[in-house]
Amino acid sequence: MHRLSTLACVFLALGVTAAGAPAGVTAIKAGRLLDVGAEKVRENVVIVVEGGRVKEIASAVPAGAAVIDLSHQTVLPGLIDGHTHVLIQGDATAEDYDAQLLKESLPYRTLRATGAMRIALEHGFTTLRDIGNEGAGFADVDLKRAVEAGVIVGPRLFVATKALAPTGAYGLSGYAWELTVPKGVEMCDGADACRRAVRDQIAHGADWIKVYADRSYYKQADGQIRSLPNFTLEEMTAIVDQAHRTRRKVAAHSMTPTGHAIALAAGVDSIEHGDVFDDATVRAMAERAVYWCPTLTVLDFVAGPRSATNPIWRDLQEAVKESFRRALKGGVPIVLGTDAGGFDWDKINQAEELRRYVDLGMTPWQALRSATVTAAAMLGQEGTLGTIAPGARADIIAVAGDPLRDITATERVAFVMKDGVVVRGPGAKP
Ligand SMILES: [Zn+2]
Repeated sequence: MHRLSTLACVFLALGVTAAGAPAGVTAIKAGRLLDVGAEKVRENVVIVVEGGRVKEIASAVPAGAAVIDLSHQTVLPGLIDGHTHVLIQGDATAEDYDAQLLKESLPYRTLRATGAMRIALEHGFTTLRDIGNEGAGFADVDLKRAVEAGVIVGPRLFVATKALAPTGAYGLSGYAWELTVPKGVEMCDGADACRRAVRDQIAHGADWIKVYADRSYYKQADGQIRSLPNFTLEEMTAIVDQAHRTRRKVAAHSMTPTGHAIALAAGVDSIEHGDVFDDATVRAMAERAVYWCPTLTVLDFVAGPRSATNPIWRDLQEAVKESFRRALKGGVPIVLGTDAGGFDWDKINQAEELRRYVDLGMTPWQALRSATVTAAAMLGQEGTLGTIAPGARADIIAVAGDPLRDITATERVAFVMKDGVVVRGPGAKP
């Protein structure tokens, strides 16, 4: 009781309602508004925000509204990153990764995650699909709830909790056999055990199920890159079926056609990384609208350090460029996914991913769609996220330049509103 009344006082002091949205009506004067869904620019409009949602797009400021003047800026929906790991802070090498799981306590990793989330939000990413917490139990569920409850400020999270791989297919590995070291995933073997793991993760709050479909990438004698498959088709089918029965979707880490064939046959909903595509992969993904998160930014980050011990990483870096062109031409739905956390949150702005898509042939509109409307569709949030339209969450960002002429303008976000609360730029609370 005492705690509730204290919270109520804090909300009153900030001028926000108990639900976290500012009291009253806010009017954002937008010089240029990018309607990403329609691929149209609207000039000199007013976005009316109330109760954390967009109420209407008007031509004048309603009487009594608090005004935010972005009349000299380009306004667009808050960005969505479809592939992140807030509980990891860069793992260019296995040593970087192992040190975090062995030397950092879970509370410490979770505190670091709140810093990563704040950085993402200030870079304009108002929603993250955080696709595996790398040995952090269910701490990602706690982070998601802490944001929703207003305990911390951060992007809205869709979480995958522990992720799944079979025994022996994921780190930590290489330690003395008598030691029990932590694992970065939950390991399951056999269809029934994997169903049980899916049920347990969903019971603890997983929005998505993440599976590792392949590992150990190598070049065949014919020059083609392939990998070792992880789960059998029977196991993978059980995982996907169990998730879908509970209305959860499945994301598959899959780097080459070896993994893609099993993951797609089992019916996964998204392919992560997917660096090497053949024609059959592209055709199957386009036909069944399986989403692809390319994660080009992390590959550029890890390829150098990892190629020191295995040159395949340079080959993958080249292969994904051709895969991207094929997927784009073939109609695969592409969602912006960076693998932030695989690279250091504070060193690389995850918005760089947009520039990489444009470099490989997307129009700026297509790149922006990948981070807004297409990502929202993948999350089952069409009309609610990734758009500035009546009824949508008031997740709104602004940049000084014009992303349609120079997509890197998205790397210099000057204003961020999430759920109607300004977290960066004019009107932001400290
Ligand atoms: Zn990842």
